[in-house]
Amino acid sequence: MADQKDIPAYRKEIDHIDTELLRLLNERSKNYGFLVGFAALFALGYALYRLTLVLAGVVGYSTAEAITYLPMFFAFLIVFPAQHFVDGWYKRRYCTQHGHRLESFKSNAGIEVTWCKRCGLRLGGQSHPGASARGEP
Ligand SMILES: [Zn+2]
Repeated sequence: MADQKDIPAYRKEIDHIDTELLRLLNERSKNYGFLVGFAALFALGYALYRLTLVLAGVVGYSTAEAITYLPMFFAFLIVFPAQHFVDGWYKRRYCTQHGHRLESFKSNAGIEVTWCKRCGLRLGGQSHPGASARGEP
């Protein structure tokens, strides 16, 4: 009788562990994505700097600076798509390594979405405001 009484408690504990694992996975994938995004930012910044130097030899330094000023200014925006990409890649890797069943479908908005049937993570596709950590189809 004691075993039957414990099953809901076990289930609750397993659900808690699942939630905690998902939270850690989300956190880790976002952090890795942020680091990769920063690496991409520095790579892009260096490439634009080299481009400025090359252009300076052709059209003069002030003109070259004027040409690369706006791309330099908005270069930080590369962090976000890079983070989004690494986030999806890391979660997809986790799910395929643990043998989760992935399901792809096209949403009503015409966006291809991949959905993990085991942990409920949304892999890829556009995120939208109100999407939970577990994602939603
Ligand atoms: Zn999964």
